[in-house]
Amino acid sequence: MSLQNIVNSSIIKSGSLINGRWLAADQFFDVIDPATEEIIAQVSEVSSLQVKQAIYSASNALLKWQTLSDQERAKYLLSWQALLIENLDDLAQIITLEQGKPLQESRGELLHSANYIRLYAELAEDLTKPDKVPSDNNQSALVYRRPVGVVSAITPWNFPCSMILRKAAAALAAGCTLVLKPSELTPLTALAIAQLSIDAGIPSGVLNVVVGSDSQMIGEILTQHPKVAKLSFTGSTKVGKDLLQQCALGVKRTSMELGGSAPFIVFDDADIDLAVEGAMASKFRNAGQTCVSANRFLIQDTVVEKFKSKLLQQISKLKSGNGFDSTAQMGPLINPLAINKMNELIADAESEGAELLVGGKKIEGKGYFFEPTVLDKVTPSMNLFHQEIFGPIVSIIYFKTEDQAIELANQVEFGLAGYLFTKDQLIINRFSQQIQLGMLGINEARLSNHHAPFGGVKQSGMGREGGRYGIEEYLDYQYICQTKTPA
Ligand code: NAP
Repeated sequence: MSLQNIVNSSIIKSGSLINGRWLAADQFFDVIDPATEEIIAQVSEVSSLQVKQAIYSASNALLKWQTLSDQERAKYLLSWQALLIENLDDLAQIITLEQGKPLQESRGELLHSANYIRLYAELAEDLTKPDKVPSDNNQSALVYRRPVGVVSAITPWNFPCSMILRKAAAALAAGCTLVLKPSELTPLTALAIAQLSIDAGIPSGVLNVVVGSDSQMIGEILTQHPKVAKLSFTGSTKVGKDLLQQCALGVKRTSMELGGSAPFIVFDDADIDLAVEGAMASKFRNAGQTCVSANRFLIQDTVVEKFKSKLLQQISKLKSGNGFDSTAQMGPLINPLAINKMNELIADAESEGAELLVGGKKIEGKGYFFEPTVLDKVTPSMNLFHQEIFGPIVSIIYFKTEDQAIELANQVEFGLAGYLFTKDQLIINRFSQQIQLGMLGINEARLSNHHAPFGGVKQSGMGREGGRYGIEEYLDYQYICQTKTPA
């Protein structure tokens, strides 16, 4: 499989999009297929001057875009959404080529992304109506919601489409213009959806995309340029902290969707088959490379043997392979660094007393495939208890009491998502109140819902994406108090 199989070849681009024009350069970086280790494309490196031009282009387009009627902006968004669906097969292939996930998962990501565009197109239709707040008799006091202005967006490689559209659809619906920097590992999806925004008639300069491998240089400009009002970032907590510091210099607004270390808690009254099915979905979707992947399996000691034996049975049936093989359920990791990280986490855990039950190494041959792995008797003294694994390793931790479970669950710096399996409503009520997480699945491992607020607490970030909550991130309130004067 290669880019030559893409039917609508007009969506294959190899440079940055600035003010409606595709730019070329004389320096390139390679895009690699993680399933074959082959180069699938070479993409032009953006220069610092071009990043600034992209910001000016977004700034110049702002006034016209924000003063369109809400309905006109919604119409553009719906045309974009329709083109996304029309090109779904091609886009899914591009995602699988550069990111590695099975084609079915790529299709799922695209449909989820399309839901965000439709939702924000619908929400956009009601933005200009002000709220009337109580005031003195001779005053009118109105609260308007105004777009924050030019937004920089920086996105990761693990969901190369939905992480972009969750931001772009909300920002554009709110009347903001955007400069997007996707990950250098998955630029082709971003460039393809940007071409579709042009085909949808979205005016030049409203959506700009800068691609390059010097993320620090690009990030410094996107966070510090005076014309940028806000940064919306999705990525690791480490990079998020650096970007927050850079944004502080200009008091820019920020949204931070950062890392997680999801606890997956199973009590002894739970439906163990349901819990194991949830564990498989949460841990091995996208080869464990999602921010909401279960990171720490906290299992009540009285059912731990049963849970492990059923889980190992399911894992023995899990098929890894190239995402274009329709029988493959799990694709590769993104790059060799990810393989090294798995090896290091396993070696550290084993040196601290964890027992390897299955897996534990790279699958031989081409591609960055890693065996589904189970480590038993993991404790908080091990690195994988505290770090985000971002790979197909199940770490099993035992607990005896409810208090111990909640303490273990909350014992990390992250607070994004988690999962609880029990039939006891009292435990559910207490957990929901005490757990330090932005999102909790109860007897449910699939949290995706474009209407719900996605985001975390603690060092998993701030702000929310999705639902009506997501659009607020791109709006400021403006209070206008007018004394009624006689005509
Ligand atoms: P990452 O290394 O933090 O990179 C994220 C983005 O930041 C990429 O575009 C990257 O560009 C860029 N970047 C890296 N260093 C930068 C710098 N110094 N200045 C400016 N930009 C910089 O994260 P990742 O490995 O791509 O993604 C995985 C992480 O994202 C995980 O921690 C995961 O939990 C998190 N995530 C969170 C959510 C959420 O909604 N909370 C969703 C998805 C993923 P390059 O790739 O080109 O270097």
